[in-house]
Amino acid sequence: MEQPFDLPYPRIESDCCKSCGRCVAACPRGCLTISETYNRYGVKAVAYKGSGCIGCGICFYNCPEPYALHIERADAPKKGGAE
Ligand code: SF4
Ligand code: SF4
Repeated sequence: MEQPFDLPYPRIESDCCKSCGRCVAACPRGCLTISETYNRYGVKAVAYKGSGCIGCGICFYNCPEPYALHIERADAPKKGGAE
């Protein structure tokens, strides 16, 4: 399912994910899952189901990998540039 442009969503860097499942267990909306495909290190990384994210950030705060996922808002200002 395509994500509506104005809603928050988790952006996942699959090659940084260790598939520990902490974010999946922590998400109050159940909108994360372990994918069926492998990343470049042979790990089945977490994936967004495509809808349901409320931008709470709980997945981010439960992830032990610093670059594996973060939350984005499509309407947030772009970094380092003019509006
Ligand atoms: S921000 Fe909240 S609702 Fe969205 S994927 Fe993470 S834990 Fe789930
Ligand atoms: S908590 Fe982080 S490392 Fe663990 S499955 Fe989720 S994104 Fe991957």
